[in-house]
Formats: sequence, structure tokens, C-alpha cells
Amino acid sequence: MAATHSMQTQLFINGQYVDSKSGETWKVTNPATDELITDKVQTAGEADIDAAVDAAAKAFKDASWRGIKAADRAKMMLKFADLIEAKAGEIARFETIAMGAPLSVQTFVAHSAADVFRYYAGWADKIAGEQYPDDDGTYKIVRYEPLGVCAGIGAWNASLILFAWKVAPALAAGNTFIFKTSEKSPLGVLSLGSLIKEAGFPPGVVNLVTGDGKTGQLLAQHMKIQKISFTGSGATGRKVADAANKSNMKRCTLELGGKSPAIVFEDADIENALNYCSQGFLLLSGQVCAAASRTYVQKSIADKFIAQLKERFDAAGQGMGADTLAPTTMLGPLADKIQFDRVMSYIESGKKEASLVTGGKRIGEKGQFIAPTIFKDPSENAKIYKEEIFGPVGIVKTFETEEEAIRLANDTTYGLSATLYTQSVTRALRVSAALESGTVSVNSSHSPSVQTPFGGVKQSGIGRECGKQGLMNYLEPKTIHINMKVG
Ligand code: NAD
Repeated sequence: MAATHSMQTQLFINGQYVDSKSGETWKVTNPATDELITDKVQTAGEADIDAAVDAAAKAFKDASWRGIKAADRAKMMLKFADLIEAKAGEIARFETIAMGAPLSVQTFVAHSAADVFRYYAGWADKIAGEQYPDDDGTYKIVRYEPLGVCAGIGAWNASLILFAWKVAPALAAGNTFIFKTSEKSPLGVLSLGSLIKEAGFPPGVVNLVTGDGKTGQLLAQHMKIQKISFTGSGATGRKVADAANKSNMKRCTLELGGKSPAIVFEDADIENALNYCSQGFLLLSGQVCAAASRTYVQKSIADKFIAQLKERFDAAGQGMGADTLAPTTMLGPLADKIQFDRVMSYIESGKKEASLVTGGKRIGEKGQFIAPTIFKDPSENAKIYKEEIFGPVGIVKTFETEEEAIRLANDTTYGLSATLYTQSVTRALRVSAALESGTVSVNSSHSPSVQTPFGGVKQSGIGRECGKQGLMNYLEPKTIHINMKVG
């Protein structure tokens, strides 16, 4: 019988689980039940981050990693993917009890993380360079080299996939890594240490730490880390970029928040649009960076559409409060009391700024559940309309013309993920081109694919994860010129 995948609260540094040198610990509470899960999660302080960086720096130069064939790196990544998949249910459970997203959703996320490792394993031995002819007497070569020690900082909403989006391309490129989980969801990723070992990665190649913003700051400002990839809010992203610049100008990728639009044209398949604007938006209780939280509906269909959207939000709310570990539960609580209070404060301000269509209240007496909520017709400067809420709170507005829809959709400082619903291919292409957004989905919510770049324009971020672009983030070009007239 396969061994049980046990809960880990220690840091994973240099191939070993260790207590933090600071002795500081963190507690994790299940937001569905308010029960304490553990108060023993080790918080990484300066000495721990230094130890992780030293281990990663040594591993980067060690023959057991630097000296092996790219295809052998791929083998370890493929084995790691198989191990994640074999334990997906147990790993997912650690995420569910820490941040509340139902087991069904987190199990899907765990499988997706395994697929990301498989995808990037395929790239490991296909990192080609370029050459240019010696037509001017110089033969020119561009080769792509790993950066060295890289670090990643994750948000809490889908830790396993954020881990995979950062670590898998970095390893395929030959780097070594230190990943910091969010303090709100440390358990799933920390549990991966034993699988990293079993997959055969040499000590120090992948290190796992946790802790709050102070730990993140230690990584962002570290002089021996060459690259940091951050996923989280815009406010924190700015701090990470500042620290990266002020320290050693480490390379920086920022995957930040959104306030993404969904435009529903009158010629759309309405049933399909309703599904994605309700269940699609409410996935993870709206705690998804790419969630389309501003829905624009063409006036001719608006009354009927909004009435049906309300019905679907209300139906989704019926299932809230159910056991998040039950396989049929689809919606969970907010990640913790802090996130609950934050979303409730937006709801209170929304009640003064817009008309409440449904929701706007907590569900149950225990746990951090908030009813799926819709506000209609906020003013263009309303806080709920301008700022990312990151909860089950959608805003609906109407439009008359395509031009107006595009203007409204683009009237934001964000630009992560736009969606539009229409049966006209030409309109789909025209509007996709006009939307200021890193990704656009036609006739569905945006669901990132590992094959295509994911990331934002404007203040939703800098750089991309996934696809070939995600790999190139972890490589530095080196130009070599050879004077062909000598020798
Ligand atoms: P957050 O910014 O509060 O925290 C994110 C991470 O940064 C955590 O690990 C936290 O410990 C760490 N951190 C906090 N202060 C830090 C500092 N000064 N220096 C370095 N690290 C620090 O965000 P959150 O509440 O965890 O996540 C929600 C946000 O993440 C939302 O804005 C959401 O849109 C965004 N997000 C974006 C994507 C994407 O791919 N674009 C994906 C998921 C979530």
C-alpha cells in the first residue's frame, strides 16, 4: 500500500525538512469551520532564507545538476509530475483545509500542476539558440543560459498551480529555485518536499519556504537571487519590484490583480454566457485573478439577462456552507477572516454606490462564507467598480453600442483577462483586438492554458508565465561574436 502523504509544517531546504532557525511559527485555521489546523508552520527568517539561497547556489554549480543532460532534468520533472498526480487528492486536501477552496477544485488544480511539469519537461532539451552568418566577417551566436538562483512568491488562491508555473520552467531551463508559499496556504506546497526528493532532484535544486510579507521581502531584496517571480496584489508587487531594483537589479516578473470585463452582446448564446458569468465567475468564490468581475450586457437583452443571472447566483449560494471536503461541493468560503472582512467592507460601500441585486451578506454563523452578490449600475468612480474585490461580488452595467462596450471595458488601470460573448466571428476578432488585456477569451471565462502566455498589461503585471514565454523568463541570452578573419 502507498505511504500516506503526511502534513508538513517544516521548511524544505537543501533536500531536508527543517525547523526555522528563528523559532517563529504561524497558525493555519480552516476558513470553512474556523477550526485550528496547526499552529506549528515554521516561518522562514533571514538565516533560513540565507541557508536556502546558499543551498540553491551550490546546487546550481554542482555537477549533479549543472553537469547532467537536459533530458535527465526532464526525467526528474516527469517523475515529479507522476508523484504529484498519485498524491493529488491528499495534496489538495491540505490546500482545502488551509484556504477553503473545495477539494473538487483543489484536486483539479493539483492535476493541472502535474501537467505543467510535464509540459516544461518537454522543453528542457529543446532550448535552442540562434546563429547569424559571417557576411560581415563576424560569425554570431546567441545561446540561452540559465540565470542561477531564482525565487517565487505565491498568492494563496491556487498555490499549487502558481508553484508549478514558476518552478517548472525555471528547472527546465537549468536554474535552481526557492519558492515561498503564501502564509494563508502553506500546507499543500510544503508537502511536496518529500516528492521533490523522491523524484531525484539533487539537494538544493528546489527549496520550499513559507512566512508572511517579511519573508517575501527577504527574497525580493536578496543579493544572491538572480530572478524573482511574484504573484499577488499590485500593492505588494510594487514593493517586490522596488526591492528587486534596489538590491541587485534581479529580473522580475509580476503577476498581479485584475478587474476584468465580460461583454455580453445581444447575439450571444445566452445560456452559455449565463453559465460563464455565474458559475465561471464564482469559481473559488470569485478569488481568481482572471475572474470577470465587471459584466457589461447589451441593453436590448439586459433585463432578462440580469434576472437570470440573479437566479443562478442565488442557486450557487444554496450550496455554500456545505462540507468543503465533500466531492460534490463546488463553492467554499473566503480564504480567511481578513479576506472576509475586506470583501464585506466592499459590499458595505457598494450598498451606498450601486443597487444591490442579490447577496450582500454572510452565509451561516461559522466559517467565512459570503453569499454570491451582484451590484448593478455603480457610478463610474465607485470603489466597487474601480477596485479589485477578490470575492464573490460581481458588477453589472449595460451598454448600447460596441464602441461603448469597448470604452467601458478598457476604463480601468488593470488589464489581465477580458471575455466577450457573441456568435459573430468578425465581431469577436475586432473586439478582441481593441481590448486592453493580456488575455481575451471568446464565449468562455478565461482559463489559463500552460501552452499560451498568461499575464497582464497595464497594472496587472509585467512579463508572462506559461508557454514558451514563461520559459524564456528563466533564460538569459548570451551573444558570442567570432572574428572569422583570425586563426
Ligand atoms: P498579497 O499581495 O497580499 O500577497 C501575495 C504574496 O506576497 C504572499 O505570499 C505574501 O506573503 C507576499 N508578500 C506580502 N508582502 C510582501 C512584501 N512586502 N514583499 C514580498 N512579498 C510579500 O496577495 P494575496 O492576497 O495573497 O493574493 C491576492 C492577489 O493576488 C489578488 O490581487 C489577485 O488578483 C492576485 N493574483 C494574481 C494572479 C496572476 O497570475 N496574475 C494569480 C493569483 C492571484
